[in-house]
Amino acid sequence: MTSSFPNVSPAYRDFLAALPKAELHLHIEGTLTPEMKWQLAGRNGVSLPYASIDEMRAAQNFEAPDAPGYLKKFIQHYNEGMLVLRTERDFYDITLSHLARCRDETVRYVEIMFDPQPHLMRGVPFEAFFAGMDEARRVGARDYGVESNFILCINRDLPLDTAHQALGAAAPFRDRIVGFGLDSVEDGNPPAKFTGLYDRARSEGYRLTAHCDVDQRDAVGHIHDCLNLLKVERIDHGINCIEDPALVDVLRERKICLTACPTWRPIDAMPRRVDRIRTMYDLGLKVTLNTDDPGLFLSGTLGTLLPPVAATGNFAPADMAAFMINAFEAAWLPADRRTRYVEEVRMFADSQASSLSSLS
Ligand SMILES: [Zn+2]
Repeated sequence: MTSSFPNVSPAYRDFLAALPKAELHLHIEGTLTPEMKWQLAGRNGVSLPYASIDEMRAAQNFEAPDAPGYLKKFIQHYNEGMLVLRTERDFYDITLSHLARCRDETVRYVEIMFDPQPHLMRGVPFEAFFAGMDEARRVGARDYGVESNFILCINRDLPLDTAHQALGAAAPFRDRIVGFGLDSVEDGNPPAKFTGLYDRARSEGYRLTAHCDVDQRDAVGHIHDCLNLLKVERIDHGINCIEDPALVDVLRERKICLTACPTWRPIDAMPRRVDRIRTMYDLGLKVTLNTDDPGLFLSGTLGTLLPPVAATGNFAPADMAAFMINAFEAAWLPADRRTRYVEEVRMFADSQASSLSSLS
């Protein structure tokens, strides 16, 4: 991060650090930092095509922001990270390591997405990776006071029968997986392809979400299709919705949560997409702020992401508290727990009221 990178005052940073936070859009495989990837590759005897961690980090620094094919290249790196995750212990370690960072950053609640297909397809049994993550969830809640839930995500570019197999493999753990989602390469894999799969997931009792990635072909149409065909109650990303006033009305009326990700890479001069997130916020949409893949982006975890986003979007402390209230209200938790967290944010914001006004 250069010195010209937008940021807020030290007092505002303290406010954001102590603000009770929630995150609804985070891929556990995307929490792998170059250091962890290197360490796990060594532990599991996986050879990576780099001579050093620095070389790996440089390869992650994709050349052109929003260049055609960027998403595919990004996913290539994402998949490379998957290769080092082999054992129950690996999944335990990366999950607990993320929950420890949540504790350090006052993130009270996180919904963790995971991609079962690539793990199953390379021979890691569902019970192995899920047992590791689930034990970390238990320990994270007990020892760190960080509550978490899991969202099973389907890779939309993999064969559809493998998605059904993943759902079948998840059945014994159904009571410990709150939600069902859709991610990876959207182009050529529109929501309509997954209607039957979503019907099945809904009938099995999962809460439903789906990625509508930013600036993809037919982005606005895909948001409509996710609502009408897949019947999701949440959209991941979805920020192209502001191009369609009628869609904005529907999203606002139905209080559909949109999990925006104002992440950035080393080549970016500032957080991406913040102008559009500002528009969504001003339109009264239920938008939240998320880190997506903190191990792969320079923006990192919520603790490092929020201050530059507040500065870039000209968001006041009360606005940042409102983003967190949106997230807790949309969390897939029992109503009494959601209420408790929302109260915690409100009480914190009230207790900071005097300094809030001087920061605004
Ligand atoms: Zn995502």
